[in-house]
Amino acid sequence: MPVDLAVEARERGIKYFLISYVDLFGALRAKLAPAAAITDMAKDGAGFAGFASWLDMTPADPDVLAIPDAASLIQLPWKREVGWLAADPYMNGKLVEHAPRNILKRMIAKAAKAGFTLKTGVECEFFLLKPDGSAISDTADTATKPCYDQAALMRRYDVISEICDSMLELGWAPYQNDHEDANGQFEMNWQFDDALLTADRMAFFKYMVKAIAEKHGLRATFMPKPFLNLTGSGCHVHLSLWQGGKNAFEDRNDGFGLSRSAYNFIGGVMNAASELCSITNPTVNSYKRINAPVTTSGATWSPNTVTYAGNNRTHMIRIPGGGRFEFRLADGATNAYLLPAALLAAGLDGIARNIDPGKPLDIDMYTESHKAPAGTKKLPLNLLDALRITERSELLRRELGDEFVNSYIKLKTREWDEYSRHLTDWERANTLDC
Ligand SMILES: [Mg+2]
Repeated sequence: MPVDLAVEARERGIKYFLISYVDLFGALRAKLAPAAAITDMAKDGAGFAGFASWLDMTPADPDVLAIPDAASLIQLPWKREVGWLAADPYMNGKLVEHAPRNILKRMIAKAAKAGFTLKTGVECEFFLLKPDGSAISDTADTATKPCYDQAALMRRYDVISEICDSMLELGWAPYQNDHEDANGQFEMNWQFDDALLTADRMAFFKYMVKAIAEKHGLRATFMPKPFLNLTGSGCHVHLSLWQGGKNAFEDRNDGFGLSRSAYNFIGGVMNAASELCSITNPTVNSYKRINAPVTTSGATWSPNTVTYAGNNRTHMIRIPGGGRFEFRLADGATNAYLLPAALLAAGLDGIARNIDPGKPLDIDMYTESHKAPAGTKKLPLNLLDALRITERSELLRRELGDEFVNSYIKLKTREWDEYSRHLTDWERANTLDC
């Protein structure tokens, strides 16, 4: 039955609704509408000037109307009088084709036509910093190998438990929280689900972590590589395709427990990895995580080559168990909706074209990459290279749309240009005496 937001407001004590959408750069944009106005807003949408966010529009364009998806309602556990809603942007009565949530919904519909439902689980790593962002917040968190550090985890118990309690209350079925591999870094895991639901939750999770951290006088960041000497923040994603309630990736007769469809999906993702990279790793800073020297903990935990393996974390794709695989390339800056949309596009292409991923590579890619077969593809080393590859991607143009690719490349290339106009200390140190 459709959710009546006015009734929800009355029954749950919601006074305001955040009607929000995620733009091409992954930023959450919202209007705060009083509950008294929600019935009209639910029908007509909340109005935004598209040019004022990263949607590649002009100041002359008419209003973008964000129509909330009532089924996405999340009541803020730390501010119960506010309800959050994911919305779908429209303009001139039509869906904005290149808005990220619309793109994901379109890809999900394409998958449904082929009989498939994508389920995803995401691991959004983040740092807890001092409010000015200059350093980690916990000055005692200095271990060389800080991963799973119980004492450091418990020094942030108040924040972590409040976020986890919130997820419990929301019914996300969170199941574990830990201190990650960098000083000041954490990860919280909740149950996988349908790709759109996970994407909405990921968009909300990033907001929730930042908001609750702020309440505790801290600053949370999902920046891919905030400290060069420490492990960066990934956004590993676990994927499985389902067909009529059955996991189509599962095959108990296979050594890794994967079906032919799963291998073909992996083949598609590997085939398009470089094309996806500007989406999975969308910032200038992203490439300082991929193309990083060894960190103080001993490993970067991020891939720089297009390979897959069994339960081995040094590869771009890991198969941790039957019926699913983990894509380890994406980072904390990735867009919650574009990430699964792009992976689905590549994976379905792999299934449609029977792409063979080749043999898994059971080596330590951090120390034995020279043993990888000749021709093993390397990932782009900077955002500009990645953008150029995406721009030429026939697959992404066909599946995600020319409008999206053109807008995305245009705005992101501007970001690169802006970055390249910065004069760095390194350049002065290395070029003054030229
Ligand atoms: Mg992790």
